[in-house]
Amino acid sequence: MNTMHEWAIAEAIAEAVSKYSESRGSRSVKRLIIGLGELQAIDREIFEFALSEIFKLYRLEVLEYVLQSEEAEFKCRSCGFSWRLRDLELSDEDREAIHFLPEAVYAYVKCPKCGSLDYYITKGRGLSILGVEY
Ligand SMILES: [Zn+2]
Repeated sequence: MNTMHEWAIAEAIAEAVSKYSESRGSRSVKRLIIGLGELQAIDREIFEFALSEIFKLYRLEVLEYVLQSEEAEFKCRSCGFSWRLRDLELSDEDREAIHFLPEAVYAYVKCPKCGSLDYYITKGRGLSILGVEY
């Protein structure tokens, strides 16, 4: 898997945290909490390494990273039904495929209530900064 992805995300996070810290006049973060979407294909080890390297470049000290998984949620546009991946009976291979290529979710998952493919991902896609503690 291409590791540029992890570095690009780490850099975006470092930039946001750096700006926020500057506005508070601090260069030291006690705890940084990051939400990792279930549908975000990311290598945690590479990502954590990228974060620590990039924060050094930004001259920002982060004492602790907390990576929290965020479960994916879907909502059907046709019938309004909401569901999560674990509500579905997916084979392990299908689950794996979705984790490696989240865009493929539409090939494996349809609305469990009405069978529509016209649904959207309400949670668990991408990454978010959940908290910065000083
Ligand atoms: Zn539906």
